Amino acid sequence: MKVAADTETIYLDNNATTRTAPEVIEAMMPFFGNRYGNPSSIHSFGGTVRRLVERAREQVAALIGASAGEIVFTSCGSESDNMAIKGFYREHGGKTRIITSAVEHPAVRNTARFLRDGRGVPLTELPVDGEGMISPSALDSLEIAPGTLASMMWANNETGVIFPIREMAEAVKARGGTFHTDAVQAAGKVRINVKEVPADMLAISGHKLHAPKGIGAAYFRAGTPVAPLIHGGHQEGGARAGTENVPYIIGLGRACELALGRMEEENTRVRALRDRLERELLAKCAGAKLNGHPENRLPNTTNISFGGIEGEAVLLHLDDAGIAASSGSACTTGSLEPSHVMMAMGIPYTYAHSSTRFSLSIYNNDLDVDRVVSAMPGIVDKLRRLSPFV
Ligand code: PLP
Repeated sequence: MKVAADTETIYLDNNATTRTAPEVIEAMMPFFGNRYGNPSSIHSFGGTVRRLVERAREQVAALIGASAGEIVFTSCGSESDNMAIKGFYREHGGKTRIITSAVEHPAVRNTARFLRDGRGVPLTELPVDGEGMISPSALDSLEIAPGTLASMMWANNETGVIFPIREMAEAVKARGGTFHTDAVQAAGKVRINVKEVPADMLAISGHKLHAPKGIGAAYFRAGTPVAPLIHGGHQEGGARAGTENVPYIIGLGRACELALGRMEEENTRVRALRDRLERELLAKCAGAKLNGHPENRLPNTTNISFGGIEGEAVLLHLDDAGIAASSGSACTTGSLEPSHVMMAMGIPYTYAHSSTRFSLSIYNNDLDVDRVVSAMPGIVDKLRRLSPFV
C-alpha cells in the first residue's frame, strides 16, 4: 500500500479533522511531563494545574463571547450534543418535544431519534431547501412552549451552509422554548457571540479547530439547568465527573485562543483559496455543480458534484494524486447511500452520489489549490468515460 508522507499530502478534509497546531502541542507538552498534578488536589502542585485549567476555560469562553463559568469540558462534540439534548429531556421529566433540522450531524440527529424511538419524544425535523438553507419561518406553525427544545446546527459539516441561528434562537426563545446549537463546524471559523445570539446551549469539538481529538466543550448559558451524563465526583462543578483530561483541556484553550486571533485570516486568505478552488473546478470539470448556498457558507468549505460518477471513485483517484478530500456518500455509514444531507436538499441521486467536499484550513496555500485544479478535470473525464450513467 502506498502511503504518502504527511508533508506530501494535500489535506483538504479539515471538516473531518484538523492538524493539531504546533503551538497547541507545545502548550500541552508540560502536562504530559512534570505538570502532572490533579486539579482537584489541595496541594499547590495540583492547584497550579487547576488555575491553568481555569485559564483554558476562559480561552474557550472568549471564542464564543461566554463567561468561563458557562463552559463544561467534555470528550468531544458528540458528547456535548448528547449532554445538552438528553440533559434537557431528563430535566423536564421526559415531557419534552424536540425540533431539529433534516441535515443535522448524527451526534444530534441520532440523539433526537433515540429519544423519539426509545422514549416517545415527539420530534420534528425541519426541511431545508435545495441550497441546504433553512427558513426561520418554518418554526411559525410549530408548537413551541417551555419544554420544547430546538437544536439547529450553526453550520453544516458537508456543505458548510450557515443557518440563520440568531433568528431561529430568538423565535424559539420568544415562545418560551430552549435553543441548542451544534457549533462544532462553525467554532473557530466564523464569529460566534452568545451575547448576540440567545442560544441556551452550544457544542464545540477540539479536533475541528486544531486541538487534538478527544476534547470538546459544552456551553450552558448561566441559569440553564445542566444534567450530567457522567455521574461521580465533583469535577466541572458537578456537570461531568471524571478527573480532567488536563493536557487536552490546555490544548483546547490554546487552540481557541489561536482561532480567535486567526479568524480574520480564515475569512480572507482561506476564503479566497476556497473561492478560487471552487471557481476553477466548476469551470474546468465537466458537469460540475455546487451543492449548498453560494454565500451563506463557512469560508473553508466547498461541496461539488460532478454528475454521473461516484464520489468514492473520485476520492480514490484524488488519494492516488496525494490529495485528501471527502465524499457525501459512504463516509458516514460504510454504505454507498448518498448522505442524508444531500437527500434532504433534494439533490438528484446521480449528483448526490458524486458529491465531493473540499474543506481547507489555514495550513493550505495556493500550490495546494493548483494541484487539485490540475488533477481534477482528468479524474472526472476518466470516470465519466467509465460511468454507465453518462
Ligand atoms: N457536529 C458536527 C457538525 C460535526 O461535524 C461533528 C464531527 O464531524 C460532530 C458534531 C461530532 O464531533 P466529534 O467528532 O468531536 O464527536
